[in-house]
Amino acid sequence: MVALEQDRAPTVRYGVDLGGTKIEAIALSADDGRELGRQRIDSPRGDYAATVRCLRDLVHGLQGRFGPGSVGIGIPGTLSPQTGLVKNANSTWLIGHPFGADLGDALGQPVRLANDADCLALSEATDGAAAGSPIAFAVILGTGVGGGVVAHGRVLTGPNAIGGEWGHNALPWPQDDERPGPACYCGRAGCVETFLSGPGMAADHQRHNGSEMTAAAIAHAAANGDPACQATLSRYAHRLARGLASIINVLDPHTIVLGGGLSNIPMLYQQVPALWGQWVFSDQVLTELKQARHGDSSGVRGAAWLWAHDSEQRLRLV
Ligand SMILES: [Zn+2]
Repeated sequence: MVALEQDRAPTVRYGVDLGGTKIEAIALSADDGRELGRQRIDSPRGDYAATVRCLRDLVHGLQGRFGPGSVGIGIPGTLSPQTGLVKNANSTWLIGHPFGADLGDALGQPVRLANDADCLALSEATDGAAAGSPIAFAVILGTGVGGGVVAHGRVLTGPNAIGGEWGHNALPWPQDDERPGPACYCGRAGCVETFLSGPGMAADHQRHNGSEMTAAAIAHAAANGDPACQATLSRYAHRLARGLASIINVLDPHTIVLGGGLSNIPMLYQQVPALWGQWVFSDQVLTELKQARHGDSSGVRGAAWLWAHDSEQRLRLV
């Protein structure tokens, strides 16, 4: 009986989403993607060794309930393909550490790591808003702006491990009052992220109106008829349409999926596709814009799917 069990493919896939404030883990049925269980804990901010221990305990706790299975991890950054060390992480205490190797040692099994936007793209392309789309681009519009590409069931990963990262490109087709644009932490100005992140929208609103409001408060007030907030959302939609048009011109995706807090603004799904044709180099645009189906769970679900797509050549095995 035991030997038979070992001969079979894993029946449970575990995914972990490592956020700046929370670590969430999920157990999915490998057969149909059904959620078997999940757990969420606070991130031990600033403490690398404690992060590894917490993640190990979280996964071992779920494996104790649901049995052995593969482990995938989504991180707010990426592993350098050359060194195996974390880079580009806004959870800065991970940077420079061999996180995948250390987790593999702690768990006693290999793990796969991917960028959190790549996990969103994989989740939504597997059984979410982009299911059935051969080419999907997924965007996180939140505290920052990230992106990931899934083509034919695989996360697109190249030599720099930055596939889909559009947040630190310049906002395309800038208008006069968008040049040079807000300063960005990356050292440049006018990056897409400085306009399209939540703090970017809030800063734009303040520049035009002088009032301090969060992106969520702006969206709420706009829905209740506040003209200044509606104007902020219109500027935002115009910029998002330009940013995504530049992606469509390069990738020609069937579906673009929006995730992150700002993906909850309903007007974007009408206004942005109505605008983006001005900049797409095509007589018509058949790309669809959709909201992530799995919402906040997309990251953790995508992490679980990292082992499910025959993607050994694309994803780093650590
Ligand atoms: Zn930047």
